[in-house]
Amino acid sequence: MQIPFWKSQLSEIEAIVHSVKKGTTSVLTESAGGRSIYAVAYGEKESFNRKANYNSACGAGNPRHYADKTKGNKPVLLLIGGVHGGELEGIVAVMNLIQLLETGTDFRGKRHDYILENAPKFRLLLIPCMNPDGRDRLPIDSLIEVPFEQSVYYMQGTWKDGSLCGWPDCKAVHPIKEASDVLGSYFNDDGVNLMHDNFFAPMAQETRALLELADGEVPDLTVQLHGGANNANHFVEIHYLPYVVMQRQQAFNQQLGAAFAKQGLPFVERNQLVVDKGIAHPSFNLTSAIHHVCGGMSMTFESNMGLAAPGVKLTPDEILDSHFVLFEEMLRSQQNV
Ligand SMILES: [Zn+2]
Repeated sequence: MQIPFWKSQLSEIEAIVHSVKKGTTSVLTESAGGRSIYAVAYGEKESFNRKANYNSACGAGNPRHYADKTKGNKPVLLLIGGVHGGELEGIVAVMNLIQLLETGTDFRGKRHDYILENAPKFRLLLIPCMNPDGRDRLPIDSLIEVPFEQSVYYMQGTWKDGSLCGWPDCKAVHPIKEASDVLGSYFNDDGVNLMHDNFFAPMAQETRALLELADGEVPDLTVQLHGGANNANHFVEIHYLPYVVMQRQQAFNQQLGAAFAKQGLPFVERNQLVVDKGIAHPSFNLTSAIHHVCGGMSMTFESNMGLAAPGVKLTPDEILDSHFVLFEEMLRSQQNV
């Protein structure tokens, strides 16, 4: 399906990041497959008088030893698309946000006045596609109206015997490269799912670079943009966060729920106050890890994908509008932190 504003190709990402004038484009790192991963920044990087890494500052009883932020500092927001390279919704949304910040309208010609007026009060770090290897492996440019089974083939790929990997079984072998026949777009070219790298000794350069970025930039709020099949938009529960951070994330979850309701778009408020009941094996994933290097809120947004499948099915416009609701509320929530 051809959708003019659905810019998700690597060549389109290259074109827009190289045309950026109001922001600054940098190459965060190269992927396992040698593809550039771009970050676009808006607003000056400020010094927070760093004397210690985050965990040591916490050990000293005061995170200000890591980042001495005052009311005068611009809040820092980090948006990450395409950690799973085939989940195009977030890539498209970050591309449209860059277009908005550069030209005053998104690729549909639509204005988003609140974002335009308030973006200068922030440092914004925008990564359109964190996993270009996976994106390059996806042979289509949109998953709108793609049947669910076909989407599983594209996302998680197949085992050696040709059967679908599926979710969450695709995580049972990691890195998955040698066990797969068709390597899905979830993974980089080494078969690493960045969401489940070994964060204390990263296997992937992509993971290392992203954690270094979070460490150095001290984002107050990081949101990863994922695709969540034909579910209503939602935030996934994140494990191993301090309760005070979960409370802030719960407040933002509720704020976003109210904003979606106002727009008539589907959003399910999943409880972000995650209690360890002592029975499961909760995963310490990339989202958890980002919090633990910088102390900020770190959340995983799962967008509806508009598949040809049961459940909630949004149009491409509604999917992009959903992300703009998210972006606007991110700014609103961090205005006076
Ligand atoms: Zn994902």
